[in-house]
Amino acid sequence: MLRLTQADLNNLNHNFEERTPQELIQWAQATFGDRVCTISAMQESGNVVCHMISQLKLSIPVLFVDTGVMFQETLDTRDRLAKEYGLTVHTLQPELTMEQQTEKSGVLYLSPEGQAECCRMRKVEPLQVVAGQYDGIISSLRRADGGQRANNPILAIDKKMNTIRVNPLANYSDEQLQQYIQTHSVITNPLHKQGFATIGCNRCTTPVMEGEPKRAGRWRHLGPWSMYCGINPTDSTGPIQEYIEVTQDLRDRILGIETDFMI
Ligand code: SF4
Repeated sequence: MLRLTQADLNNLNHNFEERTPQELIQWAQATFGDRVCTISAMQESGNVVCHMISQLKLSIPVLFVDTGVMFQETLDTRDRLAKEYGLTVHTLQPELTMEQQTEKSGVLYLSPEGQAECCRMRKVEPLQVVAGQYDGIISSLRRADGGQRANNPILAIDKKMNTIRVNPLANYSDEQLQQYIQTHSVITNPLHKQGFATIGCNRCTTPVMEGEPKRAGRWRHLGPWSMYCGINPTDSTGPIQEYIEVTQDLRDRILGIETDFMI
């Protein structure tokens, strides 16, 4: 196995800035074949990616982490996407129900330390169950969301999953996103129209007021300490993850060394 670092992806990331989201999704499918999926929390950006995959008629499955305390509107959005866009959705769930977890560990999400633990058990660990199945995971992080995502690369190393995260919407503006949603009547989570800028678990998400940052409704009860759940490696404020391990063939495919697929 060879090591692939974030620095190895610099040239590709530079060139990919000029590519459309659809071209980047096609690159991911051509590069990773049947070892690529997309992950969606059933929010606007994820739904746009799902719509693009459907329009491109690609057989890329969708991963959805159901923490067991999602809003019903989110679950309904998942079901609509699967049915109306013809997508295969794999729902991943934590080992314990929230009731079992609470009985064992108490109400974790009421403290910053507990939130980190709860998110680890209910979001990060369910995803890690499929580690090794995918060489590429298409996510929908956008720099326009600000915060830790303001400098998010299109291709990012994910050491925990030993995969490449592909963010085809990284440089998509808010205006472009809304334009796409309107033009294509993309299925959206109805909670967005009820003031929810971003949507997570029902225990930890509220609407936001005008003028507030988009993520102000996440873990509002914890103040400014908890901004992310840890499921996206680039949301981390820690040191950049160094490398993933890949075969020579996969490394060549990613870096375009032995492929005739050009975008
Ligand atoms: S968002 Fe809240 S309820 Fe959901 S996993 Fe994280 S801490 Fe737990």
